[in-house]
Parts: sequence; structure tokens; C-alpha cells
Amino acid sequence: QAKTRGRSRYEFFDVGLRRRMQRRLRLEQDLRDAVRHGRLWTAYQPVVDLSTDRVVAVEALLRWNHPIHGPVSPTEFIPLAEESDLINLLGAHMLRETTRELGIRRERGTEVDLKINLSTRQLDDPALVTAVEHALAAAGLPPSALCLEITESALMRDFVLASETLTALRELGVRLAIDDFGTGYSSLAQLQRLTLDTLKIDRSFVNGLGRSRDAEAIVTSIIAMAHAVELTVVAEGVENGEQLELLRELGCDQAQGYYLGRPLPARELWA
Ligand code: C2E
Ligand code: MG
Ligand code: MG
Ligand code: MG
Repeated sequence: QAKTRGRSRYEFFDVGLRRRMQRRLRLEQDLRDAVRHGRLWTAYQPVVDLSTDRVVAVEALLRWNHPIHGPVSPTEFIPLAEESDLINLLGAHMLRETTRELGIRRERGTEVDLKINLSTRQLDDPALVTAVEHALAAAGLPPSALCLEITESALMRDFVLASETLTALRELGVRLAIDDFGTGYSSLAQLQRLTLDTLKIDRSFVNGLGRSRDAEAIVTSIIAMAHAVELTVVAEGVENGEQLELLRELGCDQAQGYYLGRPLPARELWA
């Protein structure tokens, strides 16, 4: 009897595992089709300067509405894409589309910068630098209008720190940001060596502002540390006015979050 129970439990586990693997395989195939047929789209979230209260940039965030599963989060499909060459296709598409969009908006007088997220797999690709250069030229954008965001955990891998791609991007004049700061283990010395422009405080810390003394202490010290090495500090995930006012008092430079503006399709954001 125990044997039967054990076995059925094993089979139950197996079925769950198989389902998850099947979903992944299906999603990967569907993602490939979606990229090929241009069914992914981009949402833009405003970034506000806290000294002027003006929108100074937009962050481009990929969106995928699956015909059956509905919206699939980039936190699920980006890692899938990273497992294959798909991430480079996706990244190239994203780069072209968003620079083109921003070029059009700038021609119409909207002076905002563009922020794009990069995965390490893209930094491994030597063709990235020319792709960035071409996209900017085609859109008529100065390199300084583009900021590439790389998560702290990805950036701190040695090979990325030393990568020629990162150096070449810097030489091109595009700006670099460390994303989700506080979730990795970088030191002040490493930060300084990176010659970044911007540091984005992970939203888990912003989330605790006004509710947790620890969160406030952490945000305070991240801002002090970033300013000491002359980085612009952006707080992400601002969801209410109290958090915004605290960030202002703490000397944070810029902020983004649902309270300031949700990620929207370009035609709605600039309606
Ligand atoms: P991220 O770069 O840190 O982007 C910020 C995420 O926080 C976005 O999630 C955004 O929608 C969400 N967010 C913004 N404001 C708020 C808020 O007030 N409250 C809460 N709870 N969330 C907020 P999203 O769009 O789901 O993207 C998740 C992650 O996926 C991004 O994190 C980024 O790492 C990655 N990602 C998105 N698009 C791309 C892309 O084109 N390429 C790459 N490589 N990664 C991407
Ligand atoms: Mg980002
Ligand atoms: Mg982030
Ligand atoms: Mg994040």
C-alpha cells in the first residue's frame, strides 16, 4: 500500500514537472513566432526629474499578449529568450523600434531620453555596438539620448565588467545604468570602476519607504553612495505620494512608478 502511495505521489510530481516543461517549450516556440510576425509590442514608462517635475525619459518595456495565455510577463519570457539566439533577435527588434519611435517624438518636440534594458547575452554579442550605432543614426538620435540598463546581478559578473562591448558602448557616447540596485553585491569600488551614469534603486526598497525604517536607511545610504561617485539616482516602483515626497527629501534625482505613470503604448503616452 505504501508502495502504491509513494508511486502515485511520484507520478503526480512527474506530471507537474512535465506540464511546466511543456509550457516552456510551447512558450519558446510561440515566442519565436511572435517575434517573427511582429506580435510583440513596447510599453513606455515615464521617468520624472524630481527637481523640475518634468518627464525627462521613458523606459521601454517589452510586452507580449499570448493568443491563449494572455499577457506573459517579461520576467518569464526574457529568460526563455536568453536560452537561445532569440534574445539577440528580440533585442535588435526592440532597439530599432524604440529608437525610431523616439526619433519621431523628438521631431515633434518631445525632448525625452530613451532607456532600454539589456541582457548579458546581448553584451556577449560583438554585433551589438554596430547595431546601436546604426539604430541611433537611422533615428537621428544623439548617443547621449540613449541609456542602456543592465541589472546589478548581470553587471557584476567579471566577464561583463571586462567586456569590450561595454567599453565600446561607452566610447560611442551612450549612457549606462545599473538596474535593480541593492539586489546584488557590488561594492563602491566596483561601482566607481564601471563609469556608469545612472543607478536605479530596486523597487523592493522603495516599496518599504514610509513603512520600514530599514528601507529608509537603505535608500538613504544608496543615494549617498551613488552621489559620492557622481551617479544620477533613479527610484523605481514609486506607488504613492508619500514615497515620492520621502525620495524628494532624501535627495533622489529622478523617479518612476505607477504613481507617476504606468507603462503605456506610445500612442497613449503621447496622445
Ligand atoms: P526593470 O527594468 O526593473 O523594469 C521595471 C519593472 O517594474 C517593469 O516590469 C515595470 O512595469 C515595473 N513597474 C514600474 N513601476 C512600478 C510600480 O510602481 N510598481 C510595481 N509593482 N511595478 C512597477 P515589467 O515590465 O514586467 O518588466 C520586468 C523586467 O523585465 C524589467 O525590469 C526588465 O529587467 C525586463 N525587461 C523588460 N523589457 C525588457 C527588454 O526589452 N529587454 C530585456 N533584456 N529585459 C526586459
Ligand atoms: Mg529597467
Ligand atoms: Mg529595475
Ligand atoms: Mg526590476
